[in-house]
Amino acid sequence: MQTKESKVILITGASSGIGEATARLLAGQGHHVVIGARRVDRLEAIASDLRATGSIVEYDSLDVTDLDDVRAFAGLAIQKFGRIDVWINNAGLMPLSPLDALKVDEWNRMIDVNIRGVLHGIAASLPIMKSQGYGQIINVSSIGGHTTFPTAAVYCATKYAVVAISEGLRQENHDIRVTVISPGVTTSELAGTITHEASADYMEEFRKIAIPAAAVARAISHAIDQPADVDVSEIIVRPTASS
Ligand code: NDP
Repeated sequence: MQTKESKVILITGASSGIGEATARLLAGQGHHVVIGARRVDRLEAIASDLRATGSIVEYDSLDVTDLDDVRAFAGLAIQKFGRIDVWINNAGLMPLSPLDALKVDEWNRMIDVNIRGVLHGIAASLPIMKSQGYGQIINVSSIGGHTTFPTAAVYCATKYAVVAISEGLRQENHDIRVTVISPGVTTSELAGTITHEASADYMEEFRKIAIPAAAVARAISHAIDQPADVDVSEIIVRPTASS
């Protein structure tokens, strides 16, 4: 079904959760979506579902920690559609633990995916958007980009970084719309990366009030739908029941 102007929209981390829900919503609205993640079998299944209902979807294996991979992902969109209207930096990890557990490898993985991954997305899409003279970059941060809580110091640091990078990007580029999406607790596979047992137990309790990933997808769609001279620079979406 095509109800609005079709945009070419790339989504990182689209194999599950918020990225998948966003791909499904935007494709259903008639946009051309290009989805990437490491689990290609998941992408293939999502693409096949969407194509069965007439949507235009491309997918490719993507590791956002590898700049060449991210550039190749942008290249796929250019090869297929000749432009990039919207780039959504959504891929992320959240292996929570207290700092004194010293899970240094997990700290580094969060920095690599949640910060470097976003910067790689900007590096791959910004030159293309600047040459087009327009574009929109949407970065998925978190409530954790506004406040921190025990076990989440490094995760929140990465999400504060996403807010700072987005604000700098917005101030420097008056031809590009920049949007931060900051979800509260949302149903997805995100907590599956927690290896610290007590943190995982705490999260399981905390996630009982989670909102569906489709709620965050609707916020992303709202930001995309605005006219070219309107930049929704941030949306915070959280469960009504959150404190
Ligand atoms: P999911 O775990 O369901 O999705 C995370 C996505 O990121 C997956 O598609 C995963 O795909 C992808 N990903 C992870 N590492 C990489 C990588 N190196 N390269 C490419 N893709 C990667 O969780 P969510 O949907 O919840 O997470 C999406 C975003 O939302 C994240 O940035 C998260 O921090 C943020 N967020 C989530 C909240 C929540 O409560 N769920 C709240 C606030 C923010 P694959 O493994 O196939 O590569």
